Amino acid sequence: MKNYKIISDYQKWQAVVSCDRDYDGTFFYGVKTTRIFCRPSCKSKTPIQDNVVFFDNAATAIESGFRPCKRCCPDNIVFEPELEVIKKAKDIFNATYNMQANLDYVSRQLGVSINHLIKLFKQHTEFTPIQYITKIRVDKAKELLKQGDISILEIALATGFKSLSNFYKCFKDKTGYTPCEYKKSRGEL
Ligand SMILES: [Zn+2]
Repeated sequence: MKNYKIISDYQKWQAVVSCDRDYDGTFFYGVKTTRIFCRPSCKSKTPIQDNVVFFDNAATAIESGFRPCKRCCPDNIVFEPELEVIKKAKDIFNATYNMQANLDYVSRQLGVSINHLIKLFKQHTEFTPIQYITKIRVDKAKELLKQGDISILEIALATGFKSLSNFYKCFKDKTGYTPCEYKKSRGEL
């Protein structure tokens, strides 16, 4: 993920020369002689560097009088890097909810700082990453409690809670019920 770094014109040019898909959506380039603009990954002939102008988004390119390339259709790109980070983070959390949460590791995987990850989460979901993970854990615990034949301690550990007391607290916070009450109701609550 290169979306959160300031990209220098040199890096942009390198991306254009190498048709680097990783940069798609992070900037666009126009060719002054043809008045056409492209995504970095466009496979059309590399233009002469002096003729290239960079744009942060397709709208600016169009406003500046450039037409979208028919080959790479840069105006069709809907690139929402922030939502992409959230989606990837959620995928990781969904896959690892029963392990100890390691935001440092996850944010490094996504190429953002922990603080930025937390900020994005708060902006685009109603949760912090930890609240989100807790929600997954409680949801999974609810499924297991409904089954009725697994002990509450086993469920707590299987869903990533470090202790029974932590499990009770989080479960009650989220659902309003204790795990015991929920288990007895077989999910009717
Ligand atoms: Zn193109």
